[in-house]
Amino acid sequence: MGDLLSIGDFASRCGLSAKMLRSYAAAGLLVPAAIDAWSGYRYYSTGQLHQARVIALLRRAGVGVDDIAHFFGNPDVAQLDRWDLEIVNSSASRRRALAAARSALALDRTAGGRQSGNTGTGAPVKYDLVPGTATHQGGRDINQDAALAGDRLFAVADGIGAMDKGEVASQLAVETLTTAFAADRTASGLLKACREANQVVWRQATNENSAMGTTLAALAITSDTDAVVLHVGDSRLYRLRNTRLAKLTQDHTVVAELIRDGELGEQDARTHPHRNVLTRAVGAGPQVDADYAGVSCEPGDRLMLCTDGLFNALAPDELKDLLSAAADPQAAADTLVTAAVQRGADDNVTAMVVDVQ
Ligand code: MG
Repeated sequence: MGDLLSIGDFASRCGLSAKMLRSYAAAGLLVPAAIDAWSGYRYYSTGQLHQARVIALLRRAGVGVDDIAHFFGNPDVAQLDRWDLEIVNSSASRRRALAAARSALALDRTAGGRQSGNTGTGAPVKYDLVPGTATHQGGRDINQDAALAGDRLFAVADGIGAMDKGEVASQLAVETLTTAFAADRTASGLLKACREANQVVWRQATNENSAMGTTLAALAITSDTDAVVLHVGDSRLYRLRNTRLAKLTQDHTVVAELIRDGELGEQDARTHPHRNVLTRAVGAGPQVDADYAGVSCEPGDRLMLCTDGLFNALAPDELKDLLSAAADPQAAADTLVTAAVQRGADDNVTAMVVDVQ
């Protein structure tokens, strides 16, 4: 069970307040491990710290106390997926409401909030996506990256170099994702498509007794939540809006976790011995844990999916400048990949640039 801690010590170690702990215990969640029969003081065990930290994370994700209590009665990954979808859906619904409010107020998006005279219709913002793709083996003997652009799904994958047949894994992943998403173009369909891609790669690896795996990053226009990004591993999605370049995905790597935890600086990460170690990959196990989120898109935005060969060879400012300067998405992808290869990229390099029009 572990050592006993006072409620104050336990609270400071798990990130929940003593008041929260008391209210959770009243709801049957995280009940103290011991209560002093004389004083009535509550004690928690160090063995309960892990559950407490998970509860704190779920609360930050907006999950209700009763739902969390119910969840711990029967922990189920499908429930985590349902909460994930609720967050995406509620974000999409808030965006639609905001767009309707913008139209109702007849404020021009580009006029800095001045009255435009356009009465608007309340219809959601519509846009087209125009892709351009470039890839190069860089300093490797073969190219294990894969990329596939459909009319509503754009994906890149980076076959894991240290494993056998990374190029098979990356190609299987983008093809399976695309086919499965075509059958169900909802946000939950995209998540299911990713699971299917994982199963296909995992089965292939098991059949061939080979440790293949791949990253996967995809941008999809779903039928229910507009644009969604899904990713596993360290392939990324960026968005260039006006002159600002934003990275919209968080790498699933050891160094990214160290940076997030404040234990490593961005600069030191470039030379860290574990800089290439992934914490998640498609096909590395029977299940996959993908991140996905809604993406705000508006005409004029330029989005870019890319593998690590690109962003490891070019500094963020170079990425931004080259992405900004190109006339169209194909020219942007070509210029970026050429620059990374000229810069001596020792890895495969792939860029898929998507213009929002
Ligand atoms: Mg790579």
